[in-house]
Amino acid sequence: MTKTIVIGAGTAGAALAARISEDRDREVLVIEAGSVSSDFSPELLDGSNVQAAMPGHPANWAYPAQLTPEVPYVIARGRVLGGSSTINGGYFVRARPEDCDAWADAAGPTWSYAALLPTMRALESDADLGTGGLHGGSGPMPVRRAPQDNPAARAFTAAALELGFSFEDDKNAPGLPGVGAVPSNIVDGVRVNTGLAYLANARSRPNLQLLGNTRALRIMFDGTRAVGVETSAGTLYGDEIVVCAGGIGTPHLLLTSGIGPRAQLEALGIAVVADLPVGASFSDHADIGLKWCAKPAVSTAAERFAFPTALNFFSGVPNPGGRDRSLTGDLEVLLSVKPVDYLLSGTWGEASRDDGEELELIVGAQASKGRGSITLNSADPLDVPRIDYRYLELAADRARLRCGIRTAVALLQTAAFSELFDGLSDLDTATLGDDELLDAWMRAHLGTAIHLCGSAPMGPVVDAHGRVHKTRGLRIADTSILPTVPSRGPAATAVLIGEVIAKAIRAGD
Ligand SMILES: Cc1cc2nc3c(=O)[nH]c(=O)nc-3n(C[C@H](O)[C@H](O)[C@H](O)COP(=O)(O)OP(=O)(O)OC[C@H]3O[C@@H](n4cnc5c(N)ncnc54)[C@H](O)[C@@H]3O)c2cc1C
Repeated sequence: MTKTIVIGAGTAGAALAARISEDRDREVLVIEAGSVSSDFSPELLDGSNVQAAMPGHPANWAYPAQLTPEVPYVIARGRVLGGSSTINGGYFVRARPEDCDAWADAAGPTWSYAALLPTMRALESDADLGTGGLHGGSGPMPVRRAPQDNPAARAFTAAALELGFSFEDDKNAPGLPGVGAVPSNIVDGVRVNTGLAYLANARSRPNLQLLGNTRALRIMFDGTRAVGVETSAGTLYGDEIVVCAGGIGTPHLLLTSGIGPRAQLEALGIAVVADLPVGASFSDHADIGLKWCAKPAVSTAAERFAFPTALNFFSGVPNPGGRDRSLTGDLEVLLSVKPVDYLLSGTWGEASRDDGEELELIVGAQASKGRGSITLNSADPLDVPRIDYRYLELAADRARLRCGIRTAVALLQTAAFSELFDGLSDLDTATLGDDELLDAWMRAHLGTAIHLCGSAPMGPVVDAHGRVHKTRGLRIADTSILPTVPSRGPAATAVLIGEVIAKAIRAGD
């Protein structure tokens, strides 16, 4: 019997483990640093907020990072069954066909949109559109579109149409970007993480074992063949190791195991197993929450979606040498209908509805040219890695985000918003009108969507089946293998990666 060790029961890892353990001739052992209990605490299930994204929550790795050399930030990542899908916003949008086709250019035809579409359908149960040719109705991940009856959601869509943007009636279908309902994996208020969706039933299989609260420290090699994993609970041996530790955990583990840039590893005294550009060039979505006052208040405790509607569009900023972004859009404005305090704490303030409330339009740069890096601070696997985003270094990236902020303000200033919009909280007209002032404001308000991808990409580090170059018996299956971050949130793509690499494993590719 072949024994496969899966490191990380996260978004991709849970899907992959469930699929490969369908093969009863395979023994599957999943190692997860966090809890693997299926008894999730209430805040991990409550899809109306993201409480566990706050540093200090036990299900959050909370990595220190620099968004720019001057802007420190704490990066949330799930450390629990389901990984980041257990603590995220629940927005579940497919990568665009153009994103996939760009990955296929780097990795081969397995990653083209046409080749991926059957798996995109198979992984979902789309309650709204599941019977159509583009959608699935019987896969593990539930997909629902948020109701659009909140007054701010109605105003947002009308405002986008007033500014001349198109209506996008299915954000999971090919076509030009526009304004429309956000597909999500939140059902009756419950954020359905991949631990629930894929492993609730599969975990009783005799050939599948989940080992929680167990951290992988190093991959062990015989020459260049991966043979086992040194963990906080001892050494475990297997025929194949699949690393699903996520965009940060995966490069960190590879680097401490001797897979990475030779000079970096040798400087720290780590024996080099394979000289590969791990952690050298990741991409993510810079974002900024534009705070505005809604009067009267629009949020209600009964409403279970925080992010019902989004506008995706093209900034018009050229992308020399890159793909035409007018088809996919390079900016997103995501409407939040929950006050920021509620999103982060899950508790309501005391203010009356007539006082209004502070909400955010989250402006995301979905196709930045700038790249970040993950490197080791030390050879100790328990030390945190160094994460440098280098956001907004490039003039084109600053121009795109300025366009996003100005468009978000323009949406709030339309006739459609006139009954609701009671001013911006912390952006004045003089700053908005001046590129240099606006750049300084953006730096001061900068955040990240926490969509980090590409830290062990297909092409330079792994092949189309996740096999790590220059090694044997070692694969990666998580968002670190994407050559670039998709131009939408990556959660749906993380599940897709688990499915695609599981298929390759079962086919012996
Ligand atoms: C707060 C937050 C909000 C987000 N909101 C959205 C959203 O609304 N929509 C969207 O599309 N995307 C969102 N994202 C991003 C998206 O959730 C992630 O990109 C995606 O889930 C990553 O999947 P993954 O499988 O690559 O990694 P993960 O899901 O992070 O899984 C990695 C797993 O590996 C485990 N692990 C790591 N290191 C080790 C080790 N050494 N030993 C053992 N186990 C280890 C981790 O504990 C974790 O369970 C959000 C992310 C965060 C953090």
